[in-house]
Amino acid sequence: MKKRSMAWLLSAAVLAGSLTGCAGRKEKEPLSYMQEVNEAVKPVKMEDKYRNCYEIFVYSFYDSDGDGIGDLKGVDEKLDYIASLGADQIWLMPVCPSPTYHKYDVTDYMAIDPAYGNLEDFKKLVKDCHKRGISVITDLVLNHTSSEHPWFQEACAYLKEHKGKTDINEKDCPYLSYYQFEKSDHDKNGYARLKGTDYLYEAQFWEGMPDLNLDHPAVRKEIEKITAFWTSLGVDGYRLDATTSYYTGRNSKNIEFMTWLNDMIKKQNKDAYIVGEAWCDSMTYTSFYQSGIDSFFDFDFAGNDGEIAQCVRGTRSAKDFGKSMIWMQDKIAQNGKDGIDAPFYTNHDMARSAGYYAMDDKGEKTKFAEGLNLMMSGNAFLYYGEEIGMKGSGIDENKRAPMYWSKKKSKGTTKGPQGMEAFDMKFAALDKQKKDPYSIYSYVQQALRLRRNFPAIARGDVSMDEDLSNEEVLVIEKKPKSAALSPVVLVYNMSEKQQEVDLSKMAFPQRTLSGVLTVNKKKISLQKERLLMPGRSIAVLTQK
Ligand code: CA
Repeated sequence: MKKRSMAWLLSAAVLAGSLTGCAGRKEKEPLSYMQEVNEAVKPVKMEDKYRNCYEIFVYSFYDSDGDGIGDLKGVDEKLDYIASLGADQIWLMPVCPSPTYHKYDVTDYMAIDPAYGNLEDFKKLVKDCHKRGISVITDLVLNHTSSEHPWFQEACAYLKEHKGKTDINEKDCPYLSYYQFEKSDHDKNGYARLKGTDYLYEAQFWEGMPDLNLDHPAVRKEIEKITAFWTSLGVDGYRLDATTSYYTGRNSKNIEFMTWLNDMIKKQNKDAYIVGEAWCDSMTYTSFYQSGIDSFFDFDFAGNDGEIAQCVRGTRSAKDFGKSMIWMQDKIAQNGKDGIDAPFYTNHDMARSAGYYAMDDKGEKTKFAEGLNLMMSGNAFLYYGEEIGMKGSGIDENKRAPMYWSKKKSKGTTKGPQGMEAFDMKFAALDKQKKDPYSIYSYVQQALRLRRNFPAIARGDVSMDEDLSNEEVLVIEKKPKSAALSPVVLVYNMSEKQQEVDLSKMAFPQRTLSGVLTVNKKKISLQKERLLMPGRSIAVLTQK
């Protein structure tokens, strides 16, 4: 309570300052309702694996040297922005040398793509992140290499040389066993033909991405060297690309491999955080927690057809959303005792969310969806540009458009991937949104703030008030396992209309309104035990 009255005093002082027209001082906007309530609480610094992670496609983020391509120095220059948004972890999409713009096909696992900079830039970036309390995870693409990787090139050259001969020997060319070569006259699904030979090689994505033979001890040795290298440079963890494809269609093998990978990485760095991409049904990706990998992306909730978007459209009830969160929490706990959910709403493979909703010119649905995502338990992920509701759908290049810093062509703006179509953004650029305390940016900033103010939001086990929850309203408590952290209650109004919640009937003891997310200027009010919630609002309640 004391802290809140301090904020009132502060805003009164700002107001007084602007009234008397302090010389040399720009008139300051009064605090918005969300800022007033949420910024009166001090963020809690936690040293664990629960973070607010910002996913960065370096190519399209910020260009430091004017060649139109984003780079590591550019990310470095924008760390203050990332910190002020409220993120305390970044996930760098692949940074290793690669023939493609997206770099998910690596030609050298222990170097930086020259378009992005060099290893010195990387080391400095990690150091500058750590100075700000931001941890760094990098993309680890182990399912396949680039077809231009020297390992593959050597293996192919050997096979071409020995065309028609029978003396093919692994000892003459160890790289043969790094991949899945197979002699065959017939084409095979998931395989590509090595031109001019009677060999196929496994390439589940496309011919430019030959699958590695992850069973082979020599390949595992290489992986150990690779992760030891990045660990020595200070990275805090990894995002594992395409884990369902490690052994396509063989999930027990996938789990076995990831168990090895997890144990091996954590021997190098016991505190490493690892999150896997398993774009599949939730029964499968929750079973992957058996490997000990910390997190898997929670695809059920993401994208245009996910739980979040369905709730925002009103095609899924508030209570069912609560049930889904509890189902997920139970499934994760059954499979991995220290498993951490990894909620996200969109990523670089999905259409951006600004296109998900009709009749959303003011961005209220877009904001609320971010609220639903960022109030979820676990390590929450936010794809760059979603904090301003950037647009981008159709071909992949469109989903990875230049960060929209400013409407005017400004310093640092990237040119975007070749082949990207021309389209206009739906919502304003960052520079404009930053000045507006009711913008999408400000909303996302407040949501990230709440995650830092109340550790229970990320770390609490969810239980639902069955009686107060219904089609439109959801009431949940989040109780952390650690008794040192206080539980919180979250009340969601998922409808567009005002809802009233009678807290005297609530199963949980929390009664103080300590955090708010609202999509417009309407306020949440608490009169005695009547909580009045405007459409699409979320309240955080704590105990006195
Ligand atoms: Ca550049």
